[in-house]
Amino acid sequence: MDFLKTLSIKEKNFGASTGLKWLETTDQGELKISSPATGEAIASVYQASEQDYEAIIEKAQEAFKVWRRIPAPKRGEIVRQIGDKLREFKAPLGALVSYEMGKSLQEGLGEVQEMIDICDFSVGQSRQLYGFTMHSERVNHRMYDQYHPLGVVGIVTAFNFPVAVWAWNAMLSAVCGNVNLWKPSSKVPLTAIACQHIIQDVLKENNVPEGVFNLIIGRGAAIGERMLHDKRVPLISITGSTAVGRRAAQAIAKRFGKAILELGGNNGIIITPDADLQLAIPAVVFGAVGTAGQRCTTTRRLIIHESVYDRVKDSLLNAYRSLRIGDPLDEQNHVGPLIDRQAVEMFTEALQAVQEQGGKVIFGGEVLSGAGYESGCYVRPALVEAENHYPIVQEETFAPILYLIKYSGDVNNAIEIHNDVVQGLSSAIFTNNLREAETFLSHWGSDCGIANVNIGTSGAEIGGAFGGEKETGGGRESGSDAWKGYMRRQTNTIKYGAEMPLAQGVKFDI
Ligand code: NAD
Repeated sequence: MDFLKTLSIKEKNFGASTGLKWLETTDQGELKISSPATGEAIASVYQASEQDYEAIIEKAQEAFKVWRRIPAPKRGEIVRQIGDKLREFKAPLGALVSYEMGKSLQEGLGEVQEMIDICDFSVGQSRQLYGFTMHSERVNHRMYDQYHPLGVVGIVTAFNFPVAVWAWNAMLSAVCGNVNLWKPSSKVPLTAIACQHIIQDVLKENNVPEGVFNLIIGRGAAIGERMLHDKRVPLISITGSTAVGRRAAQAIAKRFGKAILELGGNNGIIITPDADLQLAIPAVVFGAVGTAGQRCTTTRRLIIHESVYDRVKDSLLNAYRSLRIGDPLDEQNHVGPLIDRQAVEMFTEALQAVQEQGGKVIFGGEVLSGAGYESGCYVRPALVEAENHYPIVQEETFAPILYLIKYSGDVNNAIEIHNDVVQGLSSAIFTNNLREAETFLSHWGSDCGIANVNIGTSGAEIGGAFGGEKETGGGRESGSDAWKGYMRRQTNTIKYGAEMPLAQGVKFDI
């Protein structure tokens, strides 16, 4: 694999870096990484120790003192150069994302493109860290608010977007004046190591101090937990399952830290009698089987009006029959593997559960074996007729299972079903009826952080704020004014007059 060499991935790699230097711990065990696509071993990573964590935090705190004094547009210039480096390494990094995580090559390249896009966005943002100016109620006073950096920002990322989520957080956070400590998923550490190699030259060439972009790969219990409880890390952005996020949020809240929570989704699409099925069907299929159902925004529930139910079902059956499942590096294939065999087990168990609860599997659900499927991680995406209240439908199963749910009556009934889950990430309606579309987007419509009309649930542009409500955690990343999450707000009042009127007319005889 040439791309491994291009990305400086060796047979054995260190698991901790300060951006400029690797910490050379080798006695904490190795993570052996194999590709879910082929089952072949790729490389291994030495896990970092608690001493490494301490050393990195110290470096990061020192670096913050320097980095925060660099004008924001100059920090933006460094992020611009990081974006250029990512352009240079897009092909090999995209291939490694695909090989290590199992998403298609096209999606791997798309993920790197998102990193480039957020770099561009952050460069512009570096000149727009605006606050408001207010008219004071007091004579000869000026009031305004401004935003200051926080310090060391922890970034914990999920396996399914091994590089983009780091960039969404780290690039914005860096232009805001913070230093970053990235803890990637131990399932996909090689892509993180590759990113660290890619940015290293930019940091050197610009005399960026050690400790601005840090990486640590280690045991959740030792390293992850330490970070959650560490007062020296004022903000942690955590992307992952609701179970991990709930734990993390409690630990962070206990010490009054800030958290950006980007957790699980259970995303639905409503198809009304006025839907254009030519638009809807491809969007549903892409949303349900893309990344083998392992996107936080994957379409998991399809809420279909009874009058079009059979047509939608037949079209989906046809589309699913033509899906090509196999090696994600082969562009002919639509569906790659799940991340590991444990994920395959969860897929099988969910299908078992839905049948016990009254559902009917009408397509797929098999675990594939034989030539090309040696890794044991390939499954055939499943279509299941179900009802929204089944306990298993209420959960996020991180695999390609699409539940078909019938509704009758008007769009309000569909919205009620749609909102009746604990998660609130992404949602969509397919309709050409303005009243239905606007009802879905109204404040009595979808309760999700993302609500689309005639576009599926999956994926998002970096220009918008990304995140969800309810048990998805309420965090926002990426575009719009999400940058504010990485800064602390300060209200300033300046008097330029000679009098000292006190608040509420209080007077002191002095
Ligand atoms: P996960 O919850 O198993 O792990 C997420 C991250 O948390 C990993 O880096 C893991 O090592 C870390 N972690 C686990 N225990 C920890 C602890 N005690 N302390 C600190 N860190 C700890 O999730 P996953 O399987 O990697 O990813 C899939 C999940 O992520 C899905 O639920 C998906 O919906 C969610 N996700 C959400 C978004 C979003 O933006 N809302 C985006 C991508 C993925």
